[in-house]
Amino acid sequence: MSMLRVVNPATGTVVRDLPCDTPASVDGKVAAAREALPAWRERSLGERVAIIRRFRDMLVERADQLALVLTTETGKPISQARGEIRATPGRLDFFLENVETVIAPKLMRREPMGSGVPGTGALEETVTYEPLGVVANISAWNYPYFVGSNVFAPALLAGNAVVYKPSEHATLTGLAIAGLLHEAGVPEAIFTTAVGRGDVGAALIDAGVDGVFFTGSYSTGVKVATSAAHHLIPTQLELGGKDPVYVADDVDPAAVASALADGAFYNNGQSCCAVERIYVHRSVFMAFRTAFVEAINGFSMGDPAKTDTYLGPLTREEQLAVLQAQVDDAVSKGATVLAGGRRADREGWYFEPTILSNVTHDMKVMREETFGPVIGIQEVSDDQEAAKLMADTPYGLTAGVYSADRARAAAVLAQLPTGSSYWNCCDRVSPVLPWTGRGHSGLGSTLSHEGIRAFVTPRAWHMRAP
Ligand code: NDP
Repeated sequence: MSMLRVVNPATGTVVRDLPCDTPASVDGKVAAAREALPAWRERSLGERVAIIRRFRDMLVERADQLALVLTTETGKPISQARGEIRATPGRLDFFLENVETVIAPKLMRREPMGSGVPGTGALEETVTYEPLGVVANISAWNYPYFVGSNVFAPALLAGNAVVYKPSEHATLTGLAIAGLLHEAGVPEAIFTTAVGRGDVGAALIDAGVDGVFFTGSYSTGVKVATSAAHHLIPTQLELGGKDPVYVADDVDPAAVASALADGAFYNNGQSCCAVERIYVHRSVFMAFRTAFVEAINGFSMGDPAKTDTYLGPLTREEQLAVLQAQVDDAVSKGATVLAGGRRADREGWYFEPTILSNVTHDMKVMREETFGPVIGIQEVSDDQEAAKLMADTPYGLTAGVYSADRARAAAVLAQLPTGSSYWNCCDRVSPVLPWTGRGHSGLGSTLSHEGIRAFVTPRAWHMRAP
């Protein structure tokens, strides 16, 4: 039997070995979910809402113990793990409060009776929304509570069954989520986990599901979309980013530097919407640079289980080589290392927080997703140059502008094809707004009303009275 080894990134020690699913067991889980679906759909929306509300309350009660599991398998600092779990109920509340309105039948048009001859009776045109069926939720490890619940909560509320494939790097968390959902009242066959690596995710797409909701990298997203296309099933992809921020010349560079340091280095830069590129107006560049380096030097790196640790290890060992290659490539092309630049000299998968200046778009660090604690800062001469460089990417997840002038910021942001635009903020997600990417950042939306409607399919009713 194939096994999945869970390793603590802070120490390299083995936490658990878990048996993996096989294509046959995944098929069995999808078939069991399909069998259980009619009974789940027969429950009222109010019952499903009560179940997810119980799950929400359990997250609050058990945040500390769940955070420890997340920290142990991903290396996420414990204060950030608790922060993620404690913020998830806010997202769930949005779904709980909005699902009924969003999926309620909508009467679009009513025409009175015509002349009275057959075929001219009063007409009603109505839309109803029906659950998709059994959906695959293939998830990432960096924010498993956020990106997982963005999918499984509205999916379950809308009357679907979910087969959840946690990332191999957050499987214990995936199993913990399943346990809580079952305890809250979701039938076991209606929410099941598929444990394993990418091959298990691939098998799930081919197991007869009615929709695929994927969070992960662009390269895997392409594979997922290609496989799903053969089944012609709805497919949603929440992918990576190369998110830029522009610092204009009318702001306090020190205050902005501190906000951007957090936006770039929170969770070790392992966020889809982490700030990945910074462009700074020439007239505040030096002041910004100095303050940014100072902010990074203030970050404490260490044991992620300690509450005062801000930077833990990377979750994936192989990312150490990716980061080093980006730094080496930049330095070989003329970049200056202002801080860090290499693997930290300690046990575990730690990389020093790294700032590069004198960067250009010939360097990988300004073009490829970094997904780690490495950032390039580039000087620009005006808003136009900033907008041109910010748009120079195949990704389109988020972009931000720091400026005292809203119209000026909006003029830059309007030129960029991105799913989210930020003025004087960054690295943030709101449950009331669609979370969506363009280009290589994905297809479809989670959160907001769009992210509920994604889990239902419309039916058009043309109803004419005799
Ligand atoms: P990956 O693309 O490596 O993996 C995502 C999921 O897909 C995992 O569960 C993985 O399993 C699974 N998988 C791998 N290969 C296949 C396959 N051939 N078919 C089906 N499933 C497969 O991404 P990461 O987990 O490393 O997550 C990091 C990426 O996710 C970054 O690019 C980040 O930007 C992006 N992301 C985007 C978000 C957004 O909302 N836009 C939010 C969070 C992250 P396994 O892990 O077992 O290999």
